[in-house]
Amino acid sequence: MTMTRRGFLSVSAAFAATPALRARAWAAPMPRDADIVVIGAGAAGIAAARRVMAANRKVIVVEAAGQIGGRCLTDTATFDVPFDRGARWMHNPDTNPMIRLARSAGLDISAAPPGQKIRIGRRNARPSETEEFLAALVRANRAIDDASRGRADVSCASVLPKDLGDWAGTAEFVLGANATGKDLKDVSVIDKVRAQERNAAIACRQGLGTLIAKLGEQVPLSLSTPASRIAWSNRDVTVETPAGKIAARAAVITVSSNVLAAGNIRFTPDIPRRHLDAASKLSLGSYDRIALQMPGNPLGLARDDVVIEQSNSTRTALMYANMGGSSLCTIDVAGSFGRDLSAQGEKAMVAFAVEWLTKLFGSDAATAVKKSSATRWNAVPYALGAMSAAGPGAQASRKVLIEPIGCMYLAGEATHETLWGTIDGAWESGERAAEAALRRIGALRDIEPAAPPPKPRRRARPASPIN
Ligand SMILES: Cc1cc2nc3c(=O)[nH]c(=O)nc-3n(C[C@H](O)[C@H](O)[C@H](O)COP(=O)(O)OP(=O)(O)OC[C@H]3O[C@@H](n4cnc5c(N)ncnc54)[C@H](O)[C@@H]3O)c2cc1C
Repeated sequence: MTMTRRGFLSVSAAFAATPALRARAWAAPMPRDADIVVIGAGAAGIAAARRVMAANRKVIVVEAAGQIGGRCLTDTATFDVPFDRGARWMHNPDTNPMIRLARSAGLDISAAPPGQKIRIGRRNARPSETEEFLAALVRANRAIDDASRGRADVSCASVLPKDLGDWAGTAEFVLGANATGKDLKDVSVIDKVRAQERNAAIACRQGLGTLIAKLGEQVPLSLSTPASRIAWSNRDVTVETPAGKIAARAAVITVSSNVLAAGNIRFTPDIPRRHLDAASKLSLGSYDRIALQMPGNPLGLARDDVVIEQSNSTRTALMYANMGGSSLCTIDVAGSFGRDLSAQGEKAMVAFAVEWLTKLFGSDAATAVKKSSATRWNAVPYALGAMSAAGPGAQASRKVLIEPIGCMYLAGEATHETLWGTIDGAWESGERAAEAALRRIGALRDIEPAAPPPKPRRRARPASPIN
């Protein structure tokens, strides 16, 4: 790469936590023009930029944060193993492009965690109880499926069977907060059913943030360069940043739905109200991760064990223990409870995690924690949340978001009808938006029409309860 942005690189805490990226230093000022300018260097932005480069057109990515990755961010500094602060799993190995990309980038792919445990108080659920839970999940899924074929788009919570008994709270957590970042009362049945089944959980040993950073290595981009205003028309765009203006013939905008709805980028003229409304209706749920280093395996769990509990309240969590055989354990909190907890700050989050582990495993948990860290995605100014999920009646907003605005194209996970809330959805959306932008500027003509998205298949058995 030939640019240097050293003058305006700010050293954020997260940037400091990704030492591999500190080596990036470019030697000339940011270019002032491009065929296509991309806003945001998350999965969607990097995919879009690579697609433009593959078409031999000039692209520049401007990224507000001090590192590549957006909601895929690997912290390699805090613990002795990489800690994915955002996306961690790649689902659907037969179709997920990220798995192939990770392999071709020379990263290590590891299979789904083998063990999953359900705690009932201080003991593991018996096989018959686990069966009951799985049956409850199947019934809940079926009720949501059936409701999605009804006339009105209603909330998932409103259609759940009333007799899920002791498993109602756990089913709500697994299908709602843990899967989407929102409680089921805030999730549309149609959005939930259109979501492609997420049927396996494949990890990248070096972390998914590391993967996106690697995939962005050859991309011309400018970090710590927030787009503050975009002047647009049907013919061209000008993006204003603290480092100067960039003129381009088209733009791909990949900021999260919450960032767009918050008006953090000003548009001249204003973008249509329907796009802003759609972004608001696809608001991001809350999903955070509390990482605890617990040497000596004090909880007696296996490598990569996943633990949930039978719970009758939203004050619950999911644990991923002894990651990759290390002493790092993560406790994920989500939905309305996770949002309230993260608003109280990292100390309160760690205190909850310890309290939760103590409740499930006994008093050793409190003394066993040697180091901790917690994410607070709702407070990250360039994300403002975790992943989009449509509220009741709002599923159609995903289609609205992909309507072009002059020569600007929105991308990002929220714009994907079936893979919203995922890294592969973000990636595909970036490629799709880049192709639309390339077509607009006459750089792509003979493109085959995109294949229709695969029909979501409902599972007879629920997939693993891990996000
Ligand atoms: C805790 C958590 C766990 C998750 N787990 C999984 C998982 O296991 N599997 C999975 O598939 N997905 C998971 N996801 C979802 C996944 O991370 C996202 O769907 C995906 O990363 C979104 O990518 P994106 O490119 O659409 O958006 P982003 O990653 O948000 O990228 C947008 C980029 O735009 C930048 N930006 C914002 N404002 C500006 C501006 N004004 N100017 C320039 N740049 C700007 C941002 O800094 C950011 O880099 C998880 C997310 C979270 C938060």
